[in-house]
Amino acid sequence: MRAGAFARKGVLTVQDALYFFPRRFEDRRKISEPADLLPLAEGMQVTVLARIESLREIPLRGRHQTMLELVAMGSKGDLLSCTWFRSFKGQKEKYPVGSWAIFTGALKKFKGAPQIVHPDVEIVKERPKDADLFGKSLHWGRITPIYSRSEKLSQKLIRETIHLCLSEGLPLLEDIFPEHLRKKHELLPIREAIQSMHFPRDAAPNKEELLPESLHPAIRRLIFEEFFKFQLVLLMDRSNIKPEAGIPIRIKGHAAKIMRKNIPFTLTNAQERALADALMDLQKETAMNRIVQGDVGSGKTLVAFLALAEVAENGFQAALMAPTEILVEQHFENAKKVFAGTGIGVGFISGSLNKKAKDEAYEKIRSGEWKIVIGTHALIQEAVQWKELAAVVIDEQHRFGVKQRTHFKEHSTKGKSPHILTMTATPIPRSLALTIFGELEVSTIDELPPGRQPIPTKTLRGSERQKLYNLIHKEVKEGRQAYLVYPLVADSDKEGMEKLKSAEAEFARLQEDQLHGLRLALVHGQMKSEERDRVMRAFKNHEYDVLISTTVIEVGVDVPNATVMAIENAERFGLSQLHQLRGRVGRGQHKSYCVFVTDSPPISFAKPAASLEEGVDDESPWQRLEILEKSQDGFAIAEADLKIRGPGDFFGTKQSGSPSFQLADLSRDANLLALAKLEAQALFDRDPQLKDPENALLRKYFHSVLEEAAITLKSG
Ligand code: ADP
Ligand code: MG
Repeated sequence: MRAGAFARKGVLTVQDALYFFPRRFEDRRKISEPADLLPLAEGMQVTVLARIESLREIPLRGRHQTMLELVAMGSKGDLLSCTWFRSFKGQKEKYPVGSWAIFTGALKKFKGAPQIVHPDVEIVKERPKDADLFGKSLHWGRITPIYSRSEKLSQKLIRETIHLCLSEGLPLLEDIFPEHLRKKHELLPIREAIQSMHFPRDAAPNKEELLPESLHPAIRRLIFEEFFKFQLVLLMDRSNIKPEAGIPIRIKGHAAKIMRKNIPFTLTNAQERALADALMDLQKETAMNRIVQGDVGSGKTLVAFLALAEVAENGFQAALMAPTEILVEQHFENAKKVFAGTGIGVGFISGSLNKKAKDEAYEKIRSGEWKIVIGTHALIQEAVQWKELAAVVIDEQHRFGVKQRTHFKEHSTKGKSPHILTMTATPIPRSLALTIFGELEVSTIDELPPGRQPIPTKTLRGSERQKLYNLIHKEVKEGRQAYLVYPLVADSDKEGMEKLKSAEAEFARLQEDQLHGLRLALVHGQMKSEERDRVMRAFKNHEYDVLISTTVIEVGVDVPNATVMAIENAERFGLSQLHQLRGRVGRGQHKSYCVFVTDSPPISFAKPAASLEEGVDDESPWQRLEILEKSQDGFAIAEADLKIRGPGDFFGTKQSGSPSFQLADLSRDANLLALAKLEAQALFDRDPQLKDPENALLRKYFHSVLEEAAITLKSG
């Protein structure tokens, strides 16, 4: 159970544990008596030694909860009271009366007596001797690390586990930086840096700062390492894919003319610009490597279609790869209309086709009958043999990593690399784009088609759900439709999921209860895809009023009549994902709404809850959700998301161990980034294959990263 809980935090190995840094520190060096507290100001962080005298559970009126009150006495007979506004099962048993304990938290005064709300409690049983009050425990009498918590891991357990990992793992940890480099940039040795990141020897945390100042050398060292590795991966990556010949395409524009007549509107200026960029690239002798970023609904698909039409007119093939089957089908339906009358063969392939249909598709791809093939991952199966592949569009880039790109490159025509056009609604933030893709071209569609309105967005607490149901009833009465999105397909009693709502359970419940009388449909990823499509289609045809689903609709069907997007347990989703979901509404002429529901406590409750032994994770999701309430701008949201999650997700190979910044902040640490970039470049110039024994550790590191990313270091 413990290992599982750690694994969910991404901590699987001793090495991971060493790099699982605290969120902050508390100065618990001074141990007070309750008698010492009265002169102190309220709100001060205090650490108090006292003996537990009594415990009392107080039922809360009108709620299925109890409060817990604990009274403790110091050696001079003075009292300290502690309160938990929401007690949990088994809590009382954790605090045996008669035991001495160390209480930490913010000081309050209640009726003139010192009080701590939701303290951190460490039972010490016997009263420690005064001489033992400092530096003997991991949890008090020292600068104490506070880790990101999960429901099953107490701070105490995390600290003890990490401490064990340090003593076992640290001696085995080797420094990737040779000494001369460390000297040159005054970088701490790795062991020292890691050790002080968890248990800094003598560092006074500054109130304003997350981390004590004396930790700066350790942090600086680790940030440098993050940047350095990252830069080196990029250098290696580029050197592997750099000079690539593509197939130059002559722009003819015959098909495009017909297609523009098929489209019932004119392209926006931003669409035209992105298209012009792509057409310019297609004509070159080198393969295109362009990313088109544009917010949800900005009309990227048409840009892709018009560009691919030119490829097809030159007699070559093009692939359009999308992350879900539903999206593939939608693109295909769309393509049939847009390409009508052009004579260009368009087909699609997805994993759920039966064997016969698949074989037919393979045949049409091999023979070249299909010029444009739309598909899921099925496109990169070995069975797919292209006649003359010259261009690839990858839709929703953040889902596809380096692997897919590499695959297409290997299936190029005449030894040339296909042109690659990537489309994303999760724009790569400017700061990151510059660092990562120095030479990747970017087109930005910064304009939505005319008539789109901003979508008012609001976060509700679970107890306010009725407001959401009222909104749905009102909209349905006016002939509109709604989406209700849940994090799970079915209820789960798996650790950490017990409290999440599921599409199946809520579908059953709402039908009988608050949404009784409306036509509800259910769709989720575990349904057979035919069944799912049937439901989606029926929803699109307005045979249903409310679609209850999981995130399968994330990049799904276009239903202009839908005006409500509601997301339950919204705290479980990434900001960009929520923004994408929101983009499913507001697609027609009707005013649309987005509602997030979360049972997480709002900010005002977050602080005390955080120090509750089995409380929620430290950060309140309300702050994150607020970003979406305030902004409709996918770029700003992606920047914010980047700050919160780190850039790993954008790099596209997070799971496969690409460097992600745990500590570094691209804007704050720009100087260090420049320095690391310089050193990485110097090292790369000197030893591009990392053959020097001095660089053996780096070589090992890159092998693991690059192997995963399916880029093999050319050993030559
Ligand atoms: P995304 O950029 O999110 O992939 P789509 O390509 O799916 O956006 O387009 C969203 C919707 O906007 C589609 O219904 C599409 O037909 C429509 N659309 C695209 N371009 C325009 C335009 N210039 N004017 C009006 N509607 C457009
Ligand atoms: Mg799209």
